[in-house]
Amino acid sequence: MPTSSYIPFNKPYLSGNETRYIEEAVRSGKISGDGMFTKRCHQFFEQQLGFTKVLLTTSCTDALEMAALLIDIQPGDEVIMPSYTFVSTPNAFVLRGARIVFADSTAENPNMDPAQLESLITPRTKAIVPVHYAGIACDMDPIMALADRHGLFVVEDAAQAIDSFYKGRALGTIGHLAAFSFHETKNIISGEGGMLAINDARFAARAEIIREKGTNRSSFFRGEVDKYGWVDYGSSFLPSDIIAAFLWAQLENLTSIQQQRKAIWQRYYETLAPLRAEGVQLPEVPDYATNNGHMFYLVCRSLEERTALISQLKEQDIHPVFHYLSLHKSPFYADKHDGRQLPQADHYTDCLLRLPLYYELTEAQQNRIAEGILAYYAHQTQPAAH
Ligand SMILES: *Cc1c(COP(=O)(O)O)cnc(C)c1O
Repeated sequence: MPTSSYIPFNKPYLSGNETRYIEEAVRSGKISGDGMFTKRCHQFFEQQLGFTKVLLTTSCTDALEMAALLIDIQPGDEVIMPSYTFVSTPNAFVLRGARIVFADSTAENPNMDPAQLESLITPRTKAIVPVHYAGIACDMDPIMALADRHGLFVVEDAAQAIDSFYKGRALGTIGHLAAFSFHETKNIISGEGGMLAINDARFAARAEIIREKGTNRSSFFRGEVDKYGWVDYGSSFLPSDIIAAFLWAQLENLTSIQQQRKAIWQRYYETLAPLRAEGVQLPEVPDYATNNGHMFYLVCRSLEERTALISQLKEQDIHPVFHYLSLHKSPFYADKHDGRQLPQADHYTDCLLRLPLYYELTEAQQNRIAEGILAYYAHQTQPAAH
């Protein structure tokens, strides 16, 4: 049993209405996909948040797999994405036979560096997949311009990017397609869950078909065809309405969840600001981006320093965690990578540390975390300059 002083990395937020809505869904007698709660969630994104068309999926991983099917990835096609990302970003395309061309991150934050992308494009390049790390936007204008010039698709991995913006535009509405996650570690959750945003109308009808086992069942239920059948390839990507009922209880509270998470983020930013003078990097939000309070991280000066800091905080029952391991060096992809060095991705692999950030984190707990970190650095001496 964790003691009362225990501060985990994450704790799923519950509004209190999740089980009530699940019960409602169960009692309605219709708990397969695309029921009443799924429709409510879709409407919320399309009418309140300005998305053109969205479809709930069972995960962000599935939404990315749908995107790979929709843009018709073929064996040998190349897809450019950051090395510093979750395995699902490449896996969705690798499953279709794509070759992944990993880009390095910027020095400012783990997002991929648009300035490096043009040199990675070949006649086989089919798509670019920007990942909005920590919910902070990639610089999308140069990425979209490059994609336009070379006739490429852009699929945003917006798993962490709900309620975040690029020059006033919601993340997930900019690329041709975008994938969101409602995994329990994200801002808005359903345990497992995700969503595909379809921003290019060319994909709208086929997205519904691919999500429904390759059938035109969705258009049948709208009365557009008088029977439904097998019209394309596809799989089962739609979640049960029980999942959507849970998600609806969260979406209803989007504003208060976001207020709370952003306040926690801001408090970290202010209390830990002195670390910058020590050479520790804090997340900075570029002028074109916003912060959605998804994640607060430090970039330590070295792997040794991060390891020592983690173990010191663990002794105080505080549990920060590191994040991705560069995928170009992963056991699965190292021998398929083209050998380019990606020093920024490796730097974040070694040095990035995520701090506890969840709705119920109290100010007192946050002070304990900040004091633990500041105390660690107060006892460090600056590495000698040579
Ligand atoms: C969480 C996450 C995913 C995977 O989301 P699931 O819903 O668990 O499939 C993919 N990409 C990124 C960047 C993520 O953070």
